[in-house]
Amino acid sequence: MPKPQKAVGRRGFLRTAATGAAGVVTGATTGYGHTQQDQDHSHQAIPSDLTLRVKALESLLVDKGLVDRVALDRIVDAFETKIGPRNGARVVARAWVDPAYKKRLLADATTAMEELGFHRHQGEDIVALENTAKIHNLVVCTLCSCYPWPLLGLPPVWYKSAPYRSRAVIDPRGVLKEFGVDIDAEVEVRVWDSTAEIRYMVLPVRPAGSARFTEETLAALVTRDSMIGTARVTLDVNQVQA
Ligand code: FE
Repeated sequence: MPKPQKAVGRRGFLRTAATGAAGVVTGATTGYGHTQQDQDHSHQAIPSDLTLRVKALESLLVDKGLVDRVALDRIVDAFETKIGPRNGARVVARAWVDPAYKKRLLADATTAMEELGFHRHQGEDIVALENTAKIHNLVVCTLCSCYPWPLLGLPPVWYKSAPYRSRAVIDPRGVLKEFGVDIDAEVEVRVWDSTAEIRYMVLPVRPAGSARFTEETLAALVTRDSMIGTARVTLDVNQVQA
C-alpha cells in the first residue's frame, strides 16, 4: 500500500527503476500485465518500461548534443527542492490570513496563484479545493501522475504508484487511514481525478491554535501531503497558542 517514501534523487530513482525493469523481462507476467516481481514490490514508482524510455531518450538527446545532462538535473532539482511544495504552501497561508484572497483562490486558483507570482507551465488550470469540518478532499490522477507542478513541484513517488491511483478511488477512507488520517463517518470524502487540463490542490483546514501565527509561520506548517489531501496540517504541543 502507498506510504510516504523518503525522497530519492533523480539519478538514484532512474537507477532503481532500471533495476525494477529487469524484473519485467525475467518475471512471470500476470493477467494484469504485471509481473510477480511487480506485485511483490507494489511501491514501484511508475511503469519500468516508461522510465527506461525516458532514460533512453535522455541518453540519445545528450549524445546528439541537444540537451545538457547537468542542465536537466538543475531543472528537476528546482522542481524537487526549490519550487515544490513551498509555492503551494505560500498560497495556502495567504488564503488562511486573507479571506478575500481565499475567495479568489476558490473561484479561480490559476489567476489567484499568479497574484503571488506562480505561473502555470503547461496551460493547465489549477483548481483549489477547500477542506472543511464536513468535507475532506483527496487528489489523485488515476491515469498517470497529473499534478500541480508550479505549486507543489514534483509528485511524490507514491502518487504515481498503481496502488494509490486505483485505491484512492475505490477505498479513499482506507487509503487515508493508511496515511494516518482518520476521517469521521459524518465527513464527506471527495476524490478528484486530475487530468492534463485540470490540476487540483487542496486547501487544508487551518489548524486550531494558530490564530496569531504570521503568514510566514503558517506557510512553514503546510506540507505537500496536506495539499494532496493525504495529511492534515497539525501543530505540535509547543506551537499551540491559546
Ligand atoms: Fe496524469
